Amino acid sequence: MSENFAFLLPVVLTLFGVAFLVVGRFGNRAALFWGAGYLCAGLGFLAPLLEVIVPVPVVAMVADAAFLIAFLLYSHGLVTHFDAPRLVGLRLMIAGIAYTGTTYAVLIAGSLRYELFINDIACSLMMLVATLSSWRRPRNWVDRSLLGAVIFVMLETTVRTIVFFIMAGTLAMGEFIGSSYAYIMQITSTIGALVMALTALSSVALRIVERHRKAAEEDPLTGLLNRRGFDQFIRERGRVAGKEAAVIVADIDWFKSVNDHYGHAAGDDVIREVAALLRTLSWPEAAVARFGGEEFIAYLPNCRLQDAHTLANTVRLALSERDLRSIGIDRAITASFGVAVSAAGDHTIHDAISRADRLLYLAKSSGRNRVISNAAEVSAVSAPKLFVVKDDGEVLSRR
Ligand code: GH3
Ligand code: MG
Ligand code: MG
Repeated sequence: MSENFAFLLPVVLTLFGVAFLVVGRFGNRAALFWGAGYLCAGLGFLAPLLEVIVPVPVVAMVADAAFLIAFLLYSHGLVTHFDAPRLVGLRLMIAGIAYTGTTYAVLIAGSLRYELFINDIACSLMMLVATLSSWRRPRNWVDRSLLGAVIFVMLETTVRTIVFFIMAGTLAMGEFIGSSYAYIMQITSTIGALVMALTALSSVALRIVERHRKAAEEDPLTGLLNRRGFDQFIRERGRVAGKEAAVIVADIDWFKSVNDHYGHAAGDDVIREVAALLRTLSWPEAAVARFGGEEFIAYLPNCRLQDAHTLANTVRLALSERDLRSIGIDRAITASFGVAVSAAGDHTIHDAISRADRLLYLAKSSGRNRVISNAAEVSAVSAPKLFVVKDDGEVLSRR
């Protein structure tokens, strides 16, 4: 029974190693380290097979190296996953000192007891370094479960080693394979390996899904939300944020001529500049998106029209005064803005967006480089080139 079981662990570890490597191919580096770590640990448990061709001390040294490298890789996977300080030097130093110690225990002292103690404590220490480094990094409960599983592996390894060190000091090297210690070690290590692998795989899978979801909702040129990301934001937070919301739509003026004069790459730079300015809109929970081409939208929850108008005008002014010579553009770039707020009869925020779009169109047709909003209350705002326009297009005031 114990002999059969002994071969189950390397098989399980190898399968997990392969699973991690497959997942790692989706661009997750932590999974690659874990995969290599699991394969290494699998080899460590297969080391006794070498006994038929090499002396026992050599087998022990191969196994020790395999386990130290496995835990070096596990701990590296952990700090990589959490993007925590790597502390590679410290972990390498622990592994190096431990291997020197185990080599001495195996070749000179001939002590299985010291060999296992040094090796296992070093493995735990490397995980401890990585765990402490990653301590404040978990983002969700799956991440926290992963740290929990790592702590379980650390405790299991440490307690098992200390108990063995105190109670079973008399085993000779060759007696180890058939010992009850080896059997218990395989059971507890299997549980630890399974729990750590499953939580790590879940955590990595979640990261990959998050990354793909973010990429699908993000505009690659500016890093702002794209239309899909904007719609998703509204679905998730739009209702929670309350009914009062303002939208600003913006469109760069004469942008086609920017492309024609300065080239498409410079045009892209201008789009990034406008995005950067819009990102500085200081409004809590604001969502800013590029709706395509050179058109942008900002959603400002719990924002009055007057405040939205002021914000839009701040961006308009900042853009028109921006020195763009660093990106090869020697003239001012301007944009036009339409601003609207949600109203009582609206079904969705898209009703307000449609109104803002009409006002943007009006801003274009009435000369560009201006902000137009749709309510009389805005007339109190003192801003240059302010047009206050009702929904039907009637101009109420202008300065
Ligand atoms: P208006 O003031 O009326 O908005 O004039 P405009 O020239 O800005 O508007 P128009 O719709 O005629 O042209 C928009 C141009 O934006 C056309 C298109 O080639 C360019 N464009 C769209 N997407 C991108 C992009 O990602 N990068 C660059 N460089 N140009 C883009
Ligand atoms: Mg334009
Ligand atoms: Mg346009």
